[in-house]
Amino acid sequence: MIILEEWTDYTKQYFEDYAAKTPKPSSIFNDIRKIANELDLRELDEYPGARKKISLFLNHYRDFEKLSSDSRKKRLSNASLMLKKLEEEYLFPTPLQKKSDDQILNKPLKNIKGVGPKRADKFKALGLETVKDLLFYFPRGYDDRRRVLPISKIIPADRVTVIGKIHSISATKTRSRMNILTIQLVDDTGVLTLKWFNQPYLNRLFKEGQTLSATGKVKSTGLVTREMMVNEFELINADNSSRKIYPVYPLTAGLYNGQIRAVIDRCSAYAASLRDALPQNLIEKKDLLGLQDAVYGLHNPKSNLHIERCGERIKFDELFYFELATYFAKMIKERRLTKKSKPVKSELSQKLIKRLPFELTNAQKKVFERIKAGLKKETLMNLLIQGDVGSGKTIVALLGILETIDAGYQGCIMAPTSILATQHYQGMVRLLGGMGLTVDLLLSKTPAKEKREIKERIASGESDIIIGTHAIIQKDIAFKKLGLAIIDEQHRFGVRQRETLIKKGEEVDTIVMTATPIPRTLSLSVFGDLDIASIDEMPPGRKPVRTMLIPENRKGELYDFLEKEITNDGQIYIVYPLVEESEALDLKDATSMYEVLQETRFRDFNVGLLHGKMKAEEKDDIMQDFIDKKYDILVSTTVIEVGIDVPSATVMVIEHPERFGLAQLHQLRGRVGRNKKKGYCFLVTADKSKSNYERLDYFASHNSGFDLSEYDLEKRGPGEVMGVRQHGMPSFKLANIVQDREILFDARKEAVKILKESPDLEDYKELKAYIEVAYKDRMNLIDIG
Ligand code: ADP
Ligand code: MG
Repeated sequence: MIILEEWTDYTKQYFEDYAAKTPKPSSIFNDIRKIANELDLRELDEYPGARKKISLFLNHYRDFEKLSSDSRKKRLSNASLMLKKLEEEYLFPTPLQKKSDDQILNKPLKNIKGVGPKRADKFKALGLETVKDLLFYFPRGYDDRRRVLPISKIIPADRVTVIGKIHSISATKTRSRMNILTIQLVDDTGVLTLKWFNQPYLNRLFKEGQTLSATGKVKSTGLVTREMMVNEFELINADNSSRKIYPVYPLTAGLYNGQIRAVIDRCSAYAASLRDALPQNLIEKKDLLGLQDAVYGLHNPKSNLHIERCGERIKFDELFYFELATYFAKMIKERRLTKKSKPVKSELSQKLIKRLPFELTNAQKKVFERIKAGLKKETLMNLLIQGDVGSGKTIVALLGILETIDAGYQGCIMAPTSILATQHYQGMVRLLGGMGLTVDLLLSKTPAKEKREIKERIASGESDIIIGTHAIIQKDIAFKKLGLAIIDEQHRFGVRQRETLIKKGEEVDTIVMTATPIPRTLSLSVFGDLDIASIDEMPPGRKPVRTMLIPENRKGELYDFLEKEITNDGQIYIVYPLVEESEALDLKDATSMYEVLQETRFRDFNVGLLHGKMKAEEKDDIMQDFIDKKYDILVSTTVIEVGIDVPSATVMVIEHPERFGLAQLHQLRGRVGRNKKKGYCFLVTADKSKSNYERLDYFASHNSGFDLSEYDLEKRGPGEVMGVRQHGMPSFKLANIVQDREILFDARKEAVKILKESPDLEDYKELKAYIEVAYKDRMNLIDIG
């Protein structure tokens, strides 16, 4: 038995297949009639005229094989058109009579019939106060009751809906304290067992004799017995006994699905009062439903096709407005943040390039060109440079600073830790020796007298390059003429700190650097207002760090390997997810493992401990000792993830890798193999789940941060990707930027086109008004910059 929607699907499919088929079947008419014979007549009777139209359609192909080839061609091309018409007639509701009316939309819910003040409070807890809020409270799913099966016809493994009477109810508890609610449901044809797990409150809802609809997967539990794990259910009464698709709303705040649905039923026709801000020609071009019809349809779906089309419209809106707001804000910002162009002379930078012991990679050259273009431009540069650990971001940043100095300005680099700042300083002093430049290092721990002298040099302009930690954004640091600020390991800083740094001068271009790449999908959309440059190529000769999964029970062999590595002059990191023992989590921690390792297996070696709860100076000292090889093993937490160079560190052991994101694991892995020596990364895991193994396997076999970030995005969603939340990514109701990336790219294209045509959105006042309200924060955030 099939329902009308399945009939259209199957018949469409038949004609698609027909086109490709050779030899052609002997009679189309017979074939499609066979499909139509399966139709559930009980459902069909609810659609007046449907039987007649279907038979007309079938008859169109009755003598098909006898027709001339021209007529046959014509009839075949008619098929999809006719089916589309049938779909529009039966699988979609009649379009609403639209008339925008804000008064109705703003009506408080408590004034709606059936919603007293008490229930209005519950709706308020869901964030729903007005009719409009309610209209945009979309179902989380649907309960398709068009295809109710008699119990005797159920085939195990299917997801089906049954309707029957409750014969008996029992609630039990298993030994592992699981609550199981069991109901025997009967209809005219048989008995089915329904089960719910761990929802004890459902008990009170049911009584014997009630009529219940239940949807879920059925499995066979014996020769004749079958059991359904219930996903959706509803007690049946006069309001909800028709065969149709029912929306299912999230059950929260003490409101049941049926209660929410009853109120929405009463209000959904008010969707006709919505104002559609999308330009009519865009709606037509994209073949979208009207906003009013789409909103109404999500609450009153006629078919899966209908749900899909309504969803498409809402998703397009969400993504389109977001993109429009993003690019609009970017354009406003660019127009506002003007500066004098910095001339690019390339004297100092060429000098440095000549004396480098290596050749720049093509990726480095390209990014350097971007920087030069940014310096020349008459708007302030805000460039994000992303590049894997070891891809050589520092040298590119330094070249940018040299251009800035040539143009008559100072440049600075801010790093998150004093060790990193010191390493940058030492490296640059070495590279720039004899070029007549003054480089200064400023840390919080720099002694007071020296600090005073450095401050004077910065203020007088004697300092050309200032390298430091947060110390350089303190109030009392005044630059003579800061022209370029570089922020290394950007994710360790907040937006505020960048803002503070920019305000240290009149014309400060900024470059932020990160080793955590932003997946392409996001960089084009979510981060569309940032300029992003990628160093997507490693200097030649880098060997990838060999990565292996080690099951808990093979740690002995791992420790033997570590010992060999130490005696070969290597140094080792062992990273744990926790600083100290935790009662709540069954995880190993750095502090106890440090003691255990030092006192037992590695008692003949020097073990150090480093973690985030230590004071900054203490951390620095320990790190320095490790660099000076006073320790063979450094037991640590993820505090070591940020770019410090310890050339003789060759092994990274990570315990409980399942606790870390791939981007973080990749950062940790990047700490080793930074020299000629081969690097190893061992992931010690006791989590035997398939998903964990798959993820770690992927990590072990991929060495590019770009690949890893795409994988993370795909598996864990955009919320988990570094920086997305900070960047003001809204949470959409229906759209998912990963699954709906086609719509996203399309929406972006349309948004950019509109802005090119009308940069102030003067020709699109409705659109402008819409984004100014809906994306107020995004616009404001950008105003400050
Ligand atoms: P990251 O991008 O992780 O900050 P660094 O800038 O610290 O990387 O560079 C890592 C190492 O690679 C440094 O020792 C640097 O001198 C070296 N390096 C940078 N560019 C090149 C190149 N083109 N060829 C060879 N080595 C390079
Ligand atoms: Mg770096």
